Amino acid sequence: MYKGIAASRGIGIGSICRIIEHDLSFESKKIDDPATEKERFHKAISDFVDETNAMAEDVRKRIGPKEAEILQGHAVMISDPAMSGEMDKMIDQGQCAETALTAVCDMFINMFSQMDDEMMKQRASDISDVKVSVLKKLLGIQDIDISKVAPGTVLVCKDLTPSMTSQIIKENVTGIITEIGGKTSHSAILARALEIPAVLSVPGIVDEVKDKDTAIIDGTEGDVFINPDGEVLSKYMLKREEFIRKQSELKTFIGKETVNADGTKLELFCNIGTPKDAKKAIECDGEGIGLFRSEFLFMDNTHLPTEDEQFEAYKEAVQTMDGKCVIIRTLDIGGDKDIPYLGLEKEENPFLGYRAVRYCLGNQDMYKTQLRAIIRASAFGKVKIMVPLVTTVDEVRSVKALVGEIKENLSSEGIDFDKNIEVGCMIETASASLIADLLAKEADFFSIGTNDLTQYTMSVDRGNPKVAYLYSSFQPSVLRSIKYIIECGKKAGIPVGMCGEAAADPLMIPLLMSFGLDEYSVNPVLVLTARCIISKWSKAEADTLTEKVMAMDTEVEIVAALKEAAKE
Ligand code: PEP
Ligand code: MG
Repeated sequence: MYKGIAASRGIGIGSICRIIEHDLSFESKKIDDPATEKERFHKAISDFVDETNAMAEDVRKRIGPKEAEILQGHAVMISDPAMSGEMDKMIDQGQCAETALTAVCDMFINMFSQMDDEMMKQRASDISDVKVSVLKKLLGIQDIDISKVAPGTVLVCKDLTPSMTSQIIKENVTGIITEIGGKTSHSAILARALEIPAVLSVPGIVDEVKDKDTAIIDGTEGDVFINPDGEVLSKYMLKREEFIRKQSELKTFIGKETVNADGTKLELFCNIGTPKDAKKAIECDGEGIGLFRSEFLFMDNTHLPTEDEQFEAYKEAVQTMDGKCVIIRTLDIGGDKDIPYLGLEKEENPFLGYRAVRYCLGNQDMYKTQLRAIIRASAFGKVKIMVPLVTTVDEVRSVKALVGEIKENLSSEGIDFDKNIEVGCMIETASASLIADLLAKEADFFSIGTNDLTQYTMSVDRGNPKVAYLYSSFQPSVLRSIKYIIECGKKAGIPVGMCGEAAADPLMIPLLMSFGLDEYSVNPVLVLTARCIISKWSKAEADTLTEKVMAMDTEVEIVAALKEAAKE
């Protein structure tokens, strides 16, 4: 049995398909038959063009014309004589096709990436994609098309990038195993959204397994079995049935209010990444959106989305929620979230660097465009603005000043918006937690981001498997921090929510209830589970348990006590 991080619940049983990262190094050879080399080169290009056009056709049907155009653009680009002509010239001068391709592409990549225009910068990453694809053809490397894997497939890879996840067809993938990534890495969050069992951070797993091996994934416990014997297989088949049965029992909570055992009403919101996810939130019976991760709108794009493009996206989510609250978090990039066309500088410590609100306040034109789009969307429902990665009072004041300025402009332009739109902050850094009393005077609401709060409180990279044993929201330091943030919010009379993954953790829920959390924001697929757990605890019971665990010294003791008291 292999042990990893339990990242997405459920049992998956299926046949392995490995996604291998290939070595693209080659020997730069001198050639003496340019005609034959050019033939080999043009064959690689025409194979690439044919495959790309076929893929574009498929994407047009499955996803949309805009996405298909990007792929078609790649096919056109490599056929452009300005590029392929230069490569031919180098081959004529005795360079091998791989060298000619790399040299010419790199020249264009350098040229485009130095331009100020975002569209031009994007060309650099397009050329880089094309270079890698044609190089693979020349080196005879065959890539797996994730969208074409057979039903019952278990994907095994080093890491699952958001672009890989977007190719997954949920019905065909029964499980995911990776070598890196933690419970709150974005790949884990996406796997949960797709409801595919996933175990992450299993060291060396890609080399340990073969294609077509049978795998069992227990995404609830973090266990993986490869080619299990009959006894293990039947045990897990039963466990899978049991999991599915419990999930369907939760359906009795559909349409019910979220109340604890005393009948006290709590708010149960959803975390989403795209406007389409708002539909999922409604289907799953979410009562609002507690976190709209707006950066996905930027990450899934080839250019900086314009004010109108953003406005349409926010408006779509707001209209889908039909009067229910939608908290839109402003751009939270950096750390593990890159946006290639922004050309962010590589940093030694990206999680401690120029990211989120820091980047936004340093790039005010871009930030004002986003804030304007969000504020305009507030004319269509209940919208709130949320600022990520706050560490100082000044940051909140600066954002509020920008919001004030934009509101004045919109008023003078006669554009409708909610005059009382609220500005709240995420409390997800150690600094924000320690000055929660000061921030509570500035912010209209708090939302605790435990994914980062745990990382920054414990000084532990949230995606690094070597230190994953320290990454727990049940560490006494993190629990004290959560308790203090809620107390400060309550004292100042502002609502406090939680949008980190801990808000849906059945072991955490009684503690949050006792601390007085107002709003729980969870992955849509976990709404019913959270509602069920909340319904089982009275405030008095939650208080007794909380008093007991808050007096404990270690995370291990705390988790053991919470497991013992857990109500299934
Ligand atoms: C968090 O940090 O808890 C959070 C919700 O934000 P993200 O996971 O997007 O960093
Ligand atoms: Mg965060």
